[in-house]
Amino acid sequence: MSDVIDFEVRGAIGVITINNPPANALSFAVDKGLHEAVQRCTADDAIKAMVITGGGKMFVAGADISEFGKPRPDDVPELNDVIEGIEASDKPVVAALNGLALGGGLELAMSCHYRLAAPTIQVGQPEVKLGFIPGAGGTQRLPRLAGVEAALDMIVGGDPIKAQKALELGIVDELVEGDVVARAVEFAEEVAAKGGAPRRTGEQTDKISGVDKSVFDAYRRKIAPKSRGLAAPYECIRMVEVAATLPFAQGLEEERKAFVTLRDSDQAAAMRYMFFAEREVAKVPDVPRDVQPMKIASAAVVGSGTMGGGIAMCFANAGVPVTVTDISQEALDAGLAKVKANYEGSVSRGRLTQAQMDERLGLISGSVGYDGAKEADIVIEAVFEDMDLKKKIFADLDAVMKPEAILASNTSTLDINELAAVTKRPDKVVGTHFFSPANVMKLLENVRTETASKETIATVMQLSKVLGKVGVLVGVGDGFVGNRLLGFASRIAEFMVEEGALPWQVDKVLYDFGFPMGPFAVSDMAGVDIRYLSRQGQLKLYPGRRNPVLTDKLYEMGRLGQKTGKGWYLYKDGSRKGEPDPEIEKLIAETSKELGIDRRPFSDEEILANYLCALSNTGAHVLDEGLAIRASDIDVIWLYGYGFPRQHGGPMFHADLVGLDKVLAKTEAMFQLYGDWMKPAGLLKTFAAEGKKFKDYKAG
Ligand code: NAD
Repeated sequence: MSDVIDFEVRGAIGVITINNPPANALSFAVDKGLHEAVQRCTADDAIKAMVITGGGKMFVAGADISEFGKPRPDDVPELNDVIEGIEASDKPVVAALNGLALGGGLELAMSCHYRLAAPTIQVGQPEVKLGFIPGAGGTQRLPRLAGVEAALDMIVGGDPIKAQKALELGIVDELVEGDVVARAVEFAEEVAAKGGAPRRTGEQTDKISGVDKSVFDAYRRKIAPKSRGLAAPYECIRMVEVAATLPFAQGLEEERKAFVTLRDSDQAAAMRYMFFAEREVAKVPDVPRDVQPMKIASAAVVGSGTMGGGIAMCFANAGVPVTVTDISQEALDAGLAKVKANYEGSVSRGRLTQAQMDERLGLISGSVGYDGAKEADIVIEAVFEDMDLKKKIFADLDAVMKPEAILASNTSTLDINELAAVTKRPDKVVGTHFFSPANVMKLLENVRTETASKETIATVMQLSKVLGKVGVLVGVGDGFVGNRLLGFASRIAEFMVEEGALPWQVDKVLYDFGFPMGPFAVSDMAGVDIRYLSRQGQLKLYPGRRNPVLTDKLYEMGRLGQKTGKGWYLYKDGSRKGEPDPEIEKLIAETSKELGIDRRPFSDEEILANYLCALSNTGAHVLDEGLAIRASDIDVIWLYGYGFPRQHGGPMFHADLVGLDKVLAKTEAMFQLYGDWMKPAGLLKTFAAEGKKFKDYKAG
């Protein structure tokens, strides 16, 4: 029939099987083959009904997004026409859902007149997660089958539902234990024998009539906090409202228009890019798949402070036994008590059951000294940020650990190559840079030392997955990748405040762009002292540069942020929500005067552009230095570690969108003002000159 469509006739039933592994995605070839198969069945008088199913373990997991933006060949019908052709067929069409039916797959299934499903499958409309809406009738047919509220949940939320739920909602007609295709053939024979017009989804009106319109506004209010700046969720709601208001054919037209607009939008491009970036990040070019990772059956953590405790929880949450150690019994008891309190908090919020908590705590043991490290497959050091202390600990651990075990450091700033050099296992030394709170944050920067073996790298990359983290491989260098960008951009933010902006203006601009908070609110949350101390540590590294002075002043005043009730903002009565503080405004005005700066107004656009420009130029330096494998890895780091809004892709993608020639011009102008913090990166200059994009960058 075609490479991707199998066709057979069983009795009087035409069985069409989509065979486009691995996901049976609706590609141009599938759309064409499917259309031809349906036409063939329609034309053949011996065929009384059709069954559509998927080959292998999937029904259809969606449309082939890699073909988005590519021109549809002339001989390939639009998916909507294929789908509408199926619904319009006078011969009954039965979908046999043998596996996942997502996106276009569910839309295809809903255009069939009946749906039978294996009990293990799931169905869903995840388009919203890629920045667009279902575009082949999903928003119009799903409410007709499942009702408005369930359709809103599925289309706006994007999460799939299980077969049983689909049955209860009316999306599926029957669950079939055993051979779903065989039963679908039987079912098709039954409906064909009964005669009469097939049951077309588009003609159903029961579940969309008399809907209380207030439901839609209520839904808009409900999603508002989590949908800042997003277009697709609101369009999903509007389309379900259209389904409940306009005739079916008109609804399809409206859906089509909205789909095309969103599909071609920058937001959807950014979200598609991030979808691929998240998959790409696990690949390390010189560590191919055949490098076997070591099995990590047990772990040890040295230091039970803020990070050590959280890291131990990560292992316990993943079912890996972990031993924690600290300098004294008191320190260890305090660390373990915090871990317990943390779990208790989750139980009281209903996120964990008591039994789960007990099981996880049962996997965490504590002892002073290094006995617990002796048998561990990996030991992660998370003690104070002090090179001499870490070197001593590394040498001591190296002496007691199994020779094949990995020794990792959670350091944020120190040269891990130096730590590797004090051991007899430099090939097994790496960085595992967790983000705070370690048990919550998804990002894990795995730091490659000069001496780490491929097996060690494969192991920590694999371990990231086991721990439920997004592992990104980075190189040794100041701040690795994530904090390097933050460090530079936060200085630019402070310079803007010295020159005329206010912290709450800067924060609001970045919040409105989609960040969970701006750099000043972040500093208050993490502690102004952390930023102060890290900059002190960098004075030698970046000599002779203009340094922002306000963080130092805040530090000297003891305004350390949330923990002292005052920082850049004022936190009244232990509130975690800061308010602008006139004292800070006064301090800023005085500081500008001291610096001899005439304050000038900053527009929101200028603030945003400057901040993003600092991020992307620093990102380009990171690539120049070989600290990241790809530009998209930097974007993944900023998504998971710093809350960069997914709908803008990440600092590097955003710069590509703006155009690297424009970004370079701005960087050069900022270089004049801010010196080396904004020195244009070599990569930026070359790519701007060659008309390339950061996403074209390949390491090496
Ligand atoms: P912390 O001060 O909260 O905890 C450090 C712990 O190490 C303390 O419990 C201390 O008693 C223990 N310790 C000190 N000397 C020890 C020794 N000789 N043997 C055993 N334990 C010893 O510090 P933290 O914030 O958890 O930071 C730990 C490491 O993680 C540092 O390298 C830091 O740079 C890095 N880091 C911190 C963060 C963060 O946001 N806090 C984020 C990423 C990385």
